[in-house]
Amino acid sequence: EAKRGGRRRHAFYTAAMGERIRERNEIEAELREAMRTGDGLDIVYQPCFEARSGALIGAEALIRWQNARRGAMLPNQFIPIAEECGLIETLNEWVLEQACLAAARWPAGTISVNLSAVQLRNATLAERVFSILKRTRLAPSRLELEITETSFLDSSEKCRRNLGWLRDVGVRIALDDFGTGYSSFKHLAGFEVDRVKIDQSFVSTIEPGRPGSPVIQAIVDLARVSGLETTAEGVESEQQRLYLTSIGCDVLQGFLLAEPVSAAQVEARFIEAQAGA
Ligand code: C2E
Ligand code: MG
Ligand code: MG
Ligand code: MG
Repeated sequence: EAKRGGRRRHAFYTAAMGERIRERNEIEAELREAMRTGDGLDIVYQPCFEARSGALIGAEALIRWQNARRGAMLPNQFIPIAEECGLIETLNEWVLEQACLAAARWPAGTISVNLSAVQLRNATLAERVFSILKRTRLAPSRLELEITETSFLDSSEKCRRNLGWLRDVGVRIALDDFGTGYSSFKHLAGFEVDRVKIDQSFVSTIEPGRPGSPVIQAIVDLARVSGLETTAEGVESEQQRLYLTSIGCDVLQGFLLAEPVSAAQVEARFIEAQAGA
């Protein structure tokens, strides 16, 4: 009896797994096709603001994919697949080049681009970034690369060297989703990054009845004594904005301030801000 149940369960899991694998392979094929034709792939830009003054200081490039069969797909639904099947470097370099081109048209501001761990392990990363900066004529100091803590975990020599070369020419490095990984504080103490982005999961704990967060306070304090800037991600309420500003968080990003928009819209906001100043 147990044996028969076990076999049936086994058959069930196999079918479900088979279905998942098939869908994953389909998405992979569709992504290859989208990358070949450029159809459906797009980049949006979420503005970032200085907390104290409210001034626009830059934007983060976020990839979007309008899949012909599945509709709008979010990065979390296809970036992991691109990483698994070796498409991520080409995809991310496309994002990087488009983002740098866009930012080069803005009168000011930093462009932030997300990197994958795979890219950090590639010994040619820094060189490729330099050539994109040259082609797009963007000053290195206007580029910030975001890496997650997990990419640091296997901090190979290659990864370290890449980051060193990039920082030497003025490209800035931000630690994304800070606090969600395992070895966060070690990296802050090592001064290998310029900015810490406090993950939205901490920011969202600030709510009516819980107006402060000792964790965020600790991250901001530690960043300050380490000479790093802080950005809070996912700021959705006025209460969060006020609290984060009051404890000295430098930069705010979130739907309260601005949703992701087109490159031209960011440009228009910069021009507007300059005219108003
Ligand atoms: P991330 O780098 O932490 O980006 C922030 C995510 O939070 C974005 O989601 C953004 O739309 C969302 N967000 C911003 N403000 C708010 C808010 O106030 N409330 C809420 N609920 N969400 C907010 P998105 O675009 O879905 O991106 C998810 C993740 O996918 C990114 O997290 C990043 O790790 C990755 N990603 C996005 N674009 C790229 C890319 O071009 N290359 C790579 N390798 N990864 C990317
Ligand atoms: Mg990011
Ligand atoms: Mg983030
Ligand atoms: Mg995040």
